[in-house]
Amino acid sequence: MQSKAHQIVTGLQRLTLFWRASQWEVAKELGLNPTQCEILTRVAVRPERVADLALVLGISQASLSDSVASLDRKGMVRRRPDPKDGRARQIVVTEAGRVLAARMPEAPEALQDALAGLGHADAAGLLRSLTLIIRSLQEARAIPVQRMCLTCRYFSPHVHDDPARPHHCAFVDAAFGDAALRLDCADYETATEEAAARVWAALAEVG
Ligand code: SF4
Repeated sequence: MQSKAHQIVTGLQRLTLFWRASQWEVAKELGLNPTQCEILTRVAVRPERVADLALVLGISQASLSDSVASLDRKGMVRRRPDPKDGRARQIVVTEAGRVLAARMPEAPEALQDALAGLGHADAAGLLRSLTLIIRSLQEARAIPVQRMCLTCRYFSPHVHDDPARPHHCAFVDAAFGDAALRLDCADYETATEEAAARVWAALAEVG
């Protein structure tokens, strides 16, 4: 009998194949490629440093610069010095880029329908599982740090008695549950390694 890991990986592969094909369709329709779409989506939320973007997208700075240069030529982004560090460059969306980014669907329609069909407990469990897997991969240095709750300095897990909303976000000063865990949050700020390790240990203890 094939292992549980094999079945999960098979499921993730199917979703990835579907996701990639959908990304190419959307990108083609907008006259971009999937990497350019991803860059535009991210900088539409907030300006990003070149080095940070390359890291989070898992591509070299040279590849990223090519994609940014192409977006720049199309009038979708511009580069400027980072206000916090004049030696670094930031990528900022233009109004035209923001309009284009707004046309990109959050997810393929069929996937959105499938996710909407999940019950609350299934959706929350799925999000928690994905969060834990991604955090494990980060811990193993297999993927870069994501803007996610588990490594955010505002996050405290399992600090409230309400089982539906046990976690706390100090940024908005509110309790929330697994269904509201973020894997990409515009308000994210990286926690210290010690604080992130404490969060990780607290989650492992609860299981
Ligand atoms: S700021 Fe965002 S990433 Fe940080 S804890 Fe709050 S919701 Fe999570």
